Amino acid sequence: MSLALAGIGISRGVAIGRAHIIVRGAIEVQENTLSDQLVEEEVARYLDAIATARMQLRSIRDRIPKETRVDIAAFIDTYLLMLDDATIVKTPVDLIRDRRCNAEWALKLQRDALVDVFEQMNDAYLRTRRDDVDHVINRILRILLANGQSELHIEGALHDTIVLADDLTPAETVLLQHQDVCAFATEYGGPLSHTAILARSVQMPAVVGVHGIQHYLQDGDTIILDGQHGVLIADPDERTLEYYRKRQLQEARRRAELARLVQTPAVTLDQQPVTLMANIELPEDIDAVSRENTRGVGLYRTEFLFMNREEPPDEEEQYHCYAGVVEALNGKPLTIRTLDMGADKQVDGSGVIGLRGGNPALGLRAVRLCLKDLGLFRPQLRAILRASSQGPVRMMIPMLTNTHELQQVLGLIEEAKHSLQRTGLAYDPRIRIGGMIEVPAAALSAKAFASRLDFLSIGTNDLIQYALAIDRVDDEVNYLYDPLHPAVLKLIKMTIDAGSNAGIPVAMCGEMAGDPLYTRLLLGMGLTEFSMHHTALQEVKRVINQSSIAELAPRVEALLQSGEAEQIIAGIDAINNSLH
Ligand code: PEP
Ligand code: MG
Repeated sequence: MSLALAGIGISRGVAIGRAHIIVRGAIEVQENTLSDQLVEEEVARYLDAIATARMQLRSIRDRIPKETRVDIAAFIDTYLLMLDDATIVKTPVDLIRDRRCNAEWALKLQRDALVDVFEQMNDAYLRTRRDDVDHVINRILRILLANGQSELHIEGALHDTIVLADDLTPAETVLLQHQDVCAFATEYGGPLSHTAILARSVQMPAVVGVHGIQHYLQDGDTIILDGQHGVLIADPDERTLEYYRKRQLQEARRRAELARLVQTPAVTLDQQPVTLMANIELPEDIDAVSRENTRGVGLYRTEFLFMNREEPPDEEEQYHCYAGVVEALNGKPLTIRTLDMGADKQVDGSGVIGLRGGNPALGLRAVRLCLKDLGLFRPQLRAILRASSQGPVRMMIPMLTNTHELQQVLGLIEEAKHSLQRTGLAYDPRIRIGGMIEVPAAALSAKAFASRLDFLSIGTNDLIQYALAIDRVDDEVNYLYDPLHPAVLKLIKMTIDAGSNAGIPVAMCGEMAGDPLYTRLLLGMGLTEFSMHHTALQEVKRVINQSSIAELAPRVEALLQSGEAEQIIAGIDAINNSLH
């Protein structure tokens, strides 16, 4: 009898193959109190385990084939950096000394503390960085416990198998790909983990968060894995198999069609050019900007440079980092967003991101934090300005709420320009300054922002969260997260219109821009600049190239006028189904 299990689809595509279950064994940590004489010995044992973990990771990095498209070495380097971080090295050693606990226990205590901090983060992406912490800590724990290899034993006849595991590290995911594994599913993990990003980049279908995998499924079972809908089907009947084989063919055709689109410009049927840009945050995203033939970067999230470290990067380090990205983009424009950290995402002295305030999404975040902490903000402004001397750079300010904040930022930018001039450091005097419209109040007063800025970019992830009063990372209210809510559409439309009346470009860089379901709606609303994760680019372009703005505009206008949620949903369905 067939059995279906559900999880979260993180990398689309259908795979049919034999199950290969990888059991890693649970990590059980004993809690022992040490006698005074044993404390220093335990510290030495802990530091040895870290040294071994470092060696293992370097050896994995050396085994990654050079032709691997994604810069996996960057993932491993992140892990290696963590192994040098005080949160992993110093704090557990302090715990061993202060509380006389054994090394495993000390590390477990520290993991619990770190996980707590990550769990409370407001940003979905940052929250899933806890996976990285978990991977690194588990590696050290396994070494300490000496209960077998810390790396999965990924060898043997894995060709065309579907690997089922509790969790996979990015490094293991690469090894799977090189063993011709056709897909994987895990008990744990989230859609924004490095493993998920990697699976999408290497186009390996994958589902995570499938509870009970190892309980319900067995080695050798025939499995269908649907990475789009997050479904696993074991022992399917012939009719189900036939359906999914057809889906595989359709998916192969879709991929071939999308690959052919890479060199095609994004132009609507009525000859309106549309600008497609990429959102980047990690080094491996930069390659994709040219590989996917985008017009440049519409959102560079700089937060990642500030994380997992004791001190924020200074101006010099930021300058070199930004200038490196400018150089890698080879003349394509780079939109650098100033720091979007907040009450829930502080870089504190211990290198972890601390938690302050009871309502972090409404607290001291992004530009609010920067204006309060000029010691943090000024070096970034100077670094971005200096990077603008190396190629086309735009600066973008997140979370603007009122024009007073904006005036303060513009004043600081002017100040930074003067101080660069005085010290003879180059910058582009015509650098464009833009603002993110992601607070409903800013959308409602978009006209005022448009008259003071060179461009606007709509951050729908936050705009929806704030307009609908739902925490964007709270699963309990996720069902209310609705880009098609009439109020959200009104705010988006007001922003697009304000930009067009002021004669400045308006882009969208939230997730909504990368969902092909909304492409025609947004085109009809007048949006002509989209920035998204690179994996969504060709799919959105396909819709653009089959749409006519002249046809869409009146239909969308009528829908928005109705203001009725049901009519809007039905109308958008009809619009999407009438693809040429
Ligand atoms: C947004 O809010 O839509 C956005 C792009 O910013 P972030 O997701 O980084 O908050
Ligand atoms: Mg945002």
